[in-house]
Amino acid sequence: MLAFTGLSVQLEVERPQCVVQHGLTTGNPAFIDHVVLTHNDGDHAGGLAAVLESFRVGALWMLRPWLYAEELLPRFARFTSAENLRRRLRALYPNIASLEELALAKGIPIFEPLQGLRIGAFTVLAPSKNRYIELILSSDRTPEVVPEEETLLEAFTRALGNVAAKAITLVRSAWGAEVFPSDETSAENEMSVVQFALLNGHKILLTADSGRGGLDEAIRYAPFAGLVLPGIDMFQVPHHGSRRNVSTEILNRLLGPILPATPVVPKFSAFVSSAKADEAHPRKAVVRAMQHRGGSVLTTEGKNVYAFSVLSVILWARRFRTFIPSVSPWPV
Ligand SMILES: [Zn+2]
Repeated sequence: MLAFTGLSVQLEVERPQCVVQHGLTTGNPAFIDHVVLTHNDGDHAGGLAAVLESFRVGALWMLRPWLYAEELLPRFARFTSAENLRRRLRALYPNIASLEELALAKGIPIFEPLQGLRIGAFTVLAPSKNRYIELILSSDRTPEVVPEEETLLEAFTRALGNVAAKAITLVRSAWGAEVFPSDETSAENEMSVVQFALLNGHKILLTADSGRGGLDEAIRYAPFAGLVLPGIDMFQVPHHGSRRNVSTEILNRLLGPILPATPVVPKFSAFVSSAKADEAHPRKAVVRAMQHRGGSVLTTEGKNVYAFSVLSVILWARRFRTFIPSVSPWPV
């Protein structure tokens, strides 16, 4: 997603290679104010090195687990020194580690996108530092963590949830009917940076691959960022339209309750980034949940992701005509 705010360009893309290829052939701006790596996953981090190589970048925003080695140390039984743990965490998150090396070599300052900080026109709603540290501990990448025992009740509830998740595929969907699986997205996805901006009265929410935990944290922080909910005008549907990242309750709090019927004029735009090769995404249940709340759904579906970005820039340029610079370097 390209966020075009006045003279500032912010980049948050699924496939940065497309931006680089396009940028090199059409003379896109040589300078990008802010590049945000939302989380470590390859479909978000992969190719970002090429962006740092191809453009001048004002700031790189990303969370680095090893910065918190001192605080994490007591929870890693096998590690006796923060230095060793730092080294281990760098090895566990190679995408982030190599971007850090590249940014340092190029003199690009790196900042941590933690809750409450401003990135250009955007405010980070999630994660908070405490939650980020908990997510590092619960990630599958860090099995050395001293386990906290699952109670019998928790195990039972989890088993019940799995049965319910299997049953939902058999349910026919009427307007307004929503069932989402009870199991959660990964801790890695939950580390995603959630950002909000208010541009010319339009509320924009970028969620990356955030799950229910991250969205809940973002919603609870929203009032402190001046975001009145429910009501988002441009919503990036999290995790390519996966069912495990949202729930009826979360969507009601974010986007408003289920409407009695499709409104004549859409209430908001929902963007889903999904690859054509990935036939499972976006999930129909998620697309319908957007429609239930009056959303008009736009999916990339393997179309050139950059074309999608340009489309969103055009849409935004139309909406925010008043502050888009008159000499636009973009192929609008
Ligand atoms: Zn992803």
